[in-house]
Amino acid sequence: MKRAEEVDMNDQTMKTGIPNEQRIFVNRSLNFGNVKIIGFDMDHTLAPYKKENFEALAFQATLTKFIEAGYPEELSTLAYKNDFVIRGLIVDIDRGNILKVDGYKYVKDAYHGYKRLNKETRDALYNRQGFRAQDFHSIDTFFALSEVQLFLEIVNYMDHNPGKIDKSFTQVYADLRKFIDLSHQDDSIKKKVIESPEKYIEKNKYLATTLVRLADAGKTLFLLTNSDYTYTNHIMNFVLSNTHEEFPDWKDFWNYIIVGSGKPGFFVGSQPFFEVIDDSGLLKIHRGNLNPFSVYYGGNAKLFEKLTSYQGDEVLYIGDHIYGDIIQSKGAVNWRTMLIINELEDEIKKLDEGMQYTKLIDKKLIERETLDEELQKIRSMMAANRRLAKKAQKKGDLKKIQSLLAANDSLTNKLNNKKESLKSIEESIKTNISDRSTMFHPVWGELMKVGFERSRFANQVCNYACIYSSQVSNLRFYSPYKKFVSYHESLPHEE
Ligand code: IMP
Ligand code: MG
Repeated sequence: MKRAEEVDMNDQTMKTGIPNEQRIFVNRSLNFGNVKIIGFDMDHTLAPYKKENFEALAFQATLTKFIEAGYPEELSTLAYKNDFVIRGLIVDIDRGNILKVDGYKYVKDAYHGYKRLNKETRDALYNRQGFRAQDFHSIDTFFALSEVQLFLEIVNYMDHNPGKIDKSFTQVYADLRKFIDLSHQDDSIKKKVIESPEKYIEKNKYLATTLVRLADAGKTLFLLTNSDYTYTNHIMNFVLSNTHEEFPDWKDFWNYIIVGSGKPGFFVGSQPFFEVIDDSGLLKIHRGNLNPFSVYYGGNAKLFEKLTSYQGDEVLYIGDHIYGDIIQSKGAVNWRTMLIINELEDEIKKLDEGMQYTKLIDKKLIERETLDEELQKIRSMMAANRRLAKKAQKKGDLKKIQSLLAANDSLTNKLNNKKESLKSIEESIKTNISDRSTMFHPVWGELMKVGFERSRFANQVCNYACIYSSQVSNLRFYSPYKKFVSYHESLPHEE
């Protein structure tokens, strides 16, 4: 256990620069000095999960419930695969499809189960009519990865075994939601995590000092989680207790602790606060001010503001759930927001690795433009020759006609050669784009991009997260009074 000043806050010190993958990125300027109170989500924010282990556990727990409910025994051979579903994708539940959509709601890639849809089918189903987000389910959190993968597995099974499950995809998904909710509520997931937290949760050695640094700068800190008290107690014990000499208990870090908050309902609803009065999680209705260091259950954001006297943009909330933590806290109570995007660490490293492709693609794009221009010149010359030939025909100048036709014959050859080169450049651009994309993810490519466009997920991040970063502890690199400035407000003509 170390005191704050003994801890090397930053192995790669400020002098050597913050590693790109640990930087904080800014969408909307934020004066950190004006932020008086900072709220933290727990699961996947303060407590990042070891995704493969956790998702496999959630997958198995839910699958067991399917079989217990009378689904075919054969399904028990299904297993979680961690290489198909990513965050930001959208599920068309009725059709059993999974989609990657760009910021303009154009469906760029789609699979039915594990079978890729061709462009004609994709366009006919999604791109010819308006896209209605409410018709689809979006993968907003890591918790949904195993859910959606299990759905695709069952879709796949139903396609290959017609008649064995006499339900529509929509009915299967409704069962899936029910079984997942149950698995999160009964002992099938949480008991295992509590028994071996080190198997499922990442411990971050900088977390305690990051929080203390913020508290030392005068910020009020609060925990706001959907998890219940018992689970929160175990998980926070694992990630924070005994990690700092002056704050031996995880509760010592927080001015306010709210569990079972029911986000996104917390931001829009009117649920009262309850006080958790013992370690079993027993609740008592709470009236009056919130006492620092007590544990509360439920509540709502408006009441929280009233009872703590902090309001709107004095509050920064940090979470991983793009909808439940970020879109709603910004939209309903105008809190400032920080989104944790764990995937960024890997994505940013790959952006560097992908530079070889990016350079090649840029070079080929210039070559394509030059070739395009050359082709246009040939077409213009041929059109001019044809016009001249028409005039010569009127004058009966046979010799001229023949020489113009011969000139166009040779231009046609040139044109065809150039067209071939253009085709091969376009193919090579396609291959490079696809190789680059595969480097990020074999099926879906970059999280934040769809081809050259922003993905729908990236659009949501840009519109709702004031700042974003791969981990909470990256805050340690920045002054608690820093003015985070957005440099991304320029329009295309200003760049
Ligand atoms: P957070 O700290 O607000 O992120 O809380 C996440 C909590 O929601 C955890 O306790 C999860 O077990 C729980 N959770 C995540 N996904 C589901 C779900 O699909 N159904 C029910 N509970 C969930
Ligand atoms: Mg969370």
